[in-house]
Amino acid sequence: APRKLAAGNWKMNGTLAALDQIDQLLADLPAAGCDVLICSPATLVHPMVVRAAGKLAVGGQDCHAKASGAHTGDIAAAQLADAGASHVILGHSERRTDHAETDAQVAAKSLAAHDAGLIAVICVGETEAQRDAGETLDVIAAQLAGSIPDGATATNTVIAYEPVWAIGTGRTPTNDQIAEVHALMRDRLSARFADGADMALLYGGSVKPGNAAEIFAIPHVNGALVGGASLKAADFGPIISAL
Ligand code: 13P
Repeated sequence: APRKLAAGNWKMNGTLAALDQIDQLLADLPAAGCDVLICSPATLVHPMVVRAAGKLAVGGQDCHAKASGAHTGDIAAAQLADAGASHVILGHSERRTDHAETDAQVAAKSLAAHDAGLIAVICVGETEAQRDAGETLDVIAAQLAGSIPDGATATNTVIAYEPVWAIGTGRTPTNDQIAEVHALMRDRLSARFADGADMALLYGGSVKPGNAAEIFAIPHVNGALVGGASLKAADFGPIISAL
């Protein structure tokens, strides 16, 4: 069965002072029945690893497809691993929008992450216009086919379904809508990968303490990728507990 994962994405938020939230989270964390991950800004990866003292996993939010070289401002997967990261988010909709990342680029980055020993948290999701046009399942299937490299396994890859219109909006899909996409993802991954049945599938987009338990009860939802509500231990703690 897939491992359960409560993942936070701090996006472009937080300075060293924000690491106090890690202390608070660890103090309040019950014996979590799931893996807990925070994907911090690159500047905070190593200090967060130190502060977390092995009690939670730390990840990056992007990496370059190449192992090193003349790419000013970019970060290599091996550099994240060297800083103590175990995971990296790839293909987040904000990267796809802000930096015009394509499925092929996301697949290349994911391969680089795997080569560096990182777990790739690969994101997919439809826009509101695509959902309104009835294209959601086709969009998700195409993103899965194009963004996940051959060689992905349940050990080195996690998939996050994040409808673009649900990110940071306070709007979430209905349980049936989430169930439909997660069932499609499970089918496609099981058909393509030998251990696709064990790949963890996260839901992301306006997950809060108040809706987490309901979302976690949906078939093939193995955890969450949480943005805003992962910034405060008082919010992320109850989400972890719900999983
Ligand atoms: P919010 O939880 O703030 O909606 O963000 C979701 C997200 O994009 C996580 O990667």
